[in-house]
Amino acid sequence: MKNLLALAVSVFALAIAAPSIGHENHAPKPAPRALDFPALKDGRSAFAVDLHTHSVFSDGHVWPSIRVEEAQRDALDVLAVTEHLEYQPHAADIPHPDRNRSFVVAQEEYRRRIERNGAPDNLVIINGAEITRQLPYGHINATFLTDANALLTPDAEAAIAAANAQKAFVFFNHQAWPAQRPSGVAELTPEQKSLIARKQIHGAEVVNGDTFSEDVFQFSIDNNLTILGTSDIHGLIDWDYNLAQGEQRSITLVLTKDFTADAIKAALFAGDTVAVFRDQLVGLERNVKAVAESTLRLEIGDYQRNSTVLNVTLHNDAPIDALLRNIGGAGLQNQSDVLAIPAHGSINLQVRNVAAPEGFTMELDMLSAWIAPRKNLRLTLFGAPAK
Ligand SMILES: [Zn+2]
Ligand SMILES: [Zn+2]
Repeated sequence: MKNLLALAVSVFALAIAAPSIGHENHAPKPAPRALDFPALKDGRSAFAVDLHTHSVFSDGHVWPSIRVEEAQRDALDVLAVTEHLEYQPHAADIPHPDRNRSFVVAQEEYRRRIERNGAPDNLVIINGAEITRQLPYGHINATFLTDANALLTPDAEAAIAAANAQKAFVFFNHQAWPAQRPSGVAELTPEQKSLIARKQIHGAEVVNGDTFSEDVFQFSIDNNLTILGTSDIHGLIDWDYNLAQGEQRSITLVLTKDFTADAIKAALFAGDTVAVFRDQLVGLERNVKAVAESTLRLEIGDYQRNSTVLNVTLHNDAPIDALLRNIGGAGLQNQSDVLAIPAHGSINLQVRNVAAPEGFTMELDMLSAWIAPRKNLRLTLFGAPAK
C-alpha cells in the first residue's frame, strides 16, 4: 500500500513536472527525417514539396490522413494528393464518384489536427490527379487543380487540355519506368514533344521514388521543363525509406520567397527547383548553386602553433549529407581531398601553407550535386576570419 501510494505520488509529481522539463531544458532536436533546408542567402526559402502521392482512393494502401501525418513528420511544406484517375482498384470498397474526395479528406484531416491538437499550420495541401495512360503519353500528373473530375475523359489530350484550362502545373511522371520502357531509356515521343511545344507540359520527374533518370534530366534541360523529384508513395514512407539509417523521401525543393500556394506554383512554372534524391541535389546550375552556397559554410580558425597550417571548419547546414572534392591549390593535412560532411554536421580541415590572414577561399566540386547528367556543381567558398 505504501509502495502504491509512493508510486501514485511520484507519477503525480512527474505529470506536473514533465511539461516544464520538456519546454525549458531540452530544445527539440530536428528529426533526422525532417527535410528542413535553411533559408537561401538571397532571401528566398527552399520549400520541401512532394507533388506525387497516392492513397486508397486509387492504388495506395493508406487513408489520406496518413499522407498528411507523414508529410508533417518529414517537415514538408507542400503535399499534393494525386490519385490515378483511371486506375481505381479499391473502387468497389471505397466508391467515390467525386475525384476530389481524397484531397478533401486530407484537407479536413489536416484542419482537424490543427484545431484538436494545436498542431502548427505549416503545410499547404494541393489538389492533383494522375492521368494514367500508356505510351505515347505515359503517366502525367496535373497539380493545383480546382476540379479533378473535369479530367475524367477517355481522350488523353482532352484530359491534359482540361488540366491546362484550370491553369494546372502539369508534368511527366517516371518516364523511364521499365513497365513502359523495358530498356530503362526515356525518349520523348512525337506526341509528348507536341504537348511541350504547346506549353501543356511544364515539368518532368527526374527523380521518382527510388529511381533517377539521366535521360529525363537531359530532356528537361533541353526543353525547359521544370526538374522534379517526388516520392510517388503508395505504401508508407517508413517502409520505402530506411529512416533509421538516415534515408529521406525523394522531394523537390521549390525556391521562392513567400509561403503561399500561388508563390510555389509561380516558382514551379519558372523552373526554380532542385530535386533531392539519396542525399543528392539535382537541377539547373543556378538553382543547385543557390542551395549549396546557402548550406555549406567555411569558418576560419587559428593557425596550428608556429606554422602557416590553418584550421578551417566546413559546416553543412542541410538536412542531407554532402560529398565534396577539394580541387583548389591548398592541400589538406588531415583529410584526403574527398570530404564527407554529415547532415547538420561539420568537419575540421587543416589547410597547408595559408599565408593570407584576411580570409581563405576553397574551390570544390560537389560530388553530391548534379547540374547535368554526370556533371557536378563546382563552387567556391570563402571563409572570413573570426573577429
Ligand atoms: Zn504513375
Ligand atoms: Zn503515381
